[in-house]
Amino acid sequence: MKIESNIHIIHGVAANPYLLVDSDGLTLIDTGIPGSAQKIIRYIKRAGYSLRDLNRILLTHADYDHAGSLAALKKATGARVYASLYEARAVATGQFPRSLKTDNIFLKPVFALAERLGRIDPAHVDEHLSDGQVLPILDGLFVVDTKGHTPGHLSFFVPSVGILFSGDSILSVKDRLVGSHGSVTWDQDKADAAVRKQLALRARIVCSGHGAVVKDGLARLLKLTEGFAVSPAYQRL
Ligand SMILES: [Zn+2]
Repeated sequence: MKIESNIHIIHGVAANPYLLVDSDGLTLIDTGIPGSAQKIIRYIKRAGYSLRDLNRILLTHADYDHAGSLAALKKATGARVYASLYEARAVATGQFPRSLKTDNIFLKPVFALAERLGRIDPAHVDEHLSDGQVLPILDGLFVVDTKGHTPGHLSFFVPSVGILFSGDSILSVKDRLVGSHGSVTWDQDKADAAVRKQLALRARIVCSGHGAVVKDGLARLLKLTEGFAVSPAYQRL
């Protein structure tokens, strides 16, 4: 489904992959759960492109619902893969990028099992991304370090469209945006800081890793941060 003329969301593969269209080819952000490659390939073909048009795959993070079909898609398309150094290391081994947290002794074995089941086919990341880097996608796509959900989580911001791809650092739940929280969050303080950092981008549209696209993104982000202790750097907003 199109969000803007050159930005698509691909439904039905758990976490949301996004397809960005440039004159020199396609970029995919995230790859869905394991077994999603054929669905994504079908979408690309139906949209009128060939597999060779997929130049790049960008990863927000290495969780199985975002990197699950990376190995298969890379093999099928030959796309170059980009992620942070930390998440690249997790993808290389196919393991969870952090442990699931709980103080509940009954939940510990359940989480340990989930981590084992959440392994993915390992894949090689070709290029490591870091905060502030700009890629030649849609007139400039900015890499935003949003560690917190995982140690190397990245978001991507396209100022020309005012669109933020927030991965799991900001989630779209019903009619709200929420920050990463609970057992899947590697570091809660850093996760909260990542939300505040993204508020400053003043995004018009928020495309989260889960849930619906939010078109009044800034207003919802302001609402989300109401309850947060706002750091001095962002008080002028
Ligand atoms: Zn996710």
